[in-house]
Amino acid sequence: MLPTRVKPKVLIIDDDVMSVQRIAEALSSGYDVFVSTTPQDGLSRAIELQPELILLDVIMPQTSGFELCRQLKQNERTHPIPIIFVTALDTVNQQTEGFELGAVDYITKPVENAILKARVQTHTRLYQQTLQLESLAATDPLTGLANRRRFDETMLWEIEHCQREQVCLSLLIIDIDDFKSYNDGYGHGKGDDCLIHVSRILEDSARRGTDVVSRLGGEEFGIILNATDQVGAVAIAAQILDQFNQQRYEHRYASQHDYLTVSIGIATIVFSQITDCKPDERTLVDCADSALYEAKHNGRNQYAWKIWPDERD
Ligand code: GH3
Ligand code: MG
Ligand code: MG
Repeated sequence: MLPTRVKPKVLIIDDDVMSVQRIAEALSSGYDVFVSTTPQDGLSRAIELQPELILLDVIMPQTSGFELCRQLKQNERTHPIPIIFVTALDTVNQQTEGFELGAVDYITKPVENAILKARVQTHTRLYQQTLQLESLAATDPLTGLANRRRFDETMLWEIEHCQREQVCLSLLIIDIDDFKSYNDGYGHGKGDDCLIHVSRILEDSARRGTDVVSRLGGEEFGIILNATDQVGAVAIAAQILDQFNQQRYEHRYASQHDYLTVSIGIATIVFSQITDCKPDERTLVDCADSALYEAKHNGRNQYAWKIWPDERD
């Protein structure tokens, strides 16, 4: 059975209105069907809709389905979406070309409804399962935040992206103060609740769509802030500290207060000032780690920051 909660979205890209109608009708009960009758519109709808499957005609005016398939596979927003060619072209060479371009299947017109439905079901299910697995593999099970793996991938991607755009990239590493004594005093279960509470505060403080809040491990969290300079990063860190100091989540075993606090290390790479050295994915983490050490050393419940490259070096 297909999940009844959300119907998978199928985008049909075909200039033949009769053919579109027949396919859309056959799929209408199990899927949310969308239609584009030109390749240009097809590409932008695919980006915007993020369908679970694209049914693509080959012979269309201006851009062929093969060419559109190439474009869909090159676009980072659409490349994982499965594509099935639905076409009257039925030679071995033509079908082979379709598969070589990255299509998952090939259906020849005239379309047999039973075959169409079976193949659409197989590929939408497979894709949904793949998305679910990818999401699970990138999520911290306790807090639902991005996990270390996703953090590392994002960091690598953002370093390249911000370098290309010549904008600043900032990272906050947030570490709960006296968390060992929290666990020892309240028990591991309450410790877990506390980690979830901290996660929600961090998510609320970093609300921009591109901010990636992750659990790096234990009681340590990271927030990647793209296109954010040191001033912007400090503002978010200050807001996080304020939240903890206002909410006063009980921690009667803490060394300095009777509520939970955090310390934050801030690091910013200023790409426009880099001349001969090249940062890698460890640069920002090492920098933020050393700032965090400073914040802990200076008494906790505070932030410290570093800029890379450091003019003093
Ligand atoms: P500091 O103020 O210097 O950061 O000291 P701290 O006690 O917070 O840091 P320390 O590294 O000594 O202790 C971290 C503790 O975090 C140890 C461990 O019991 C706890 N911890 C790590 N992962 C988890 C988890 O998944 N759940 C719970 N409940 N506790 C965890
Ligand atoms: Mg056509
Ligand atoms: Mg700690």
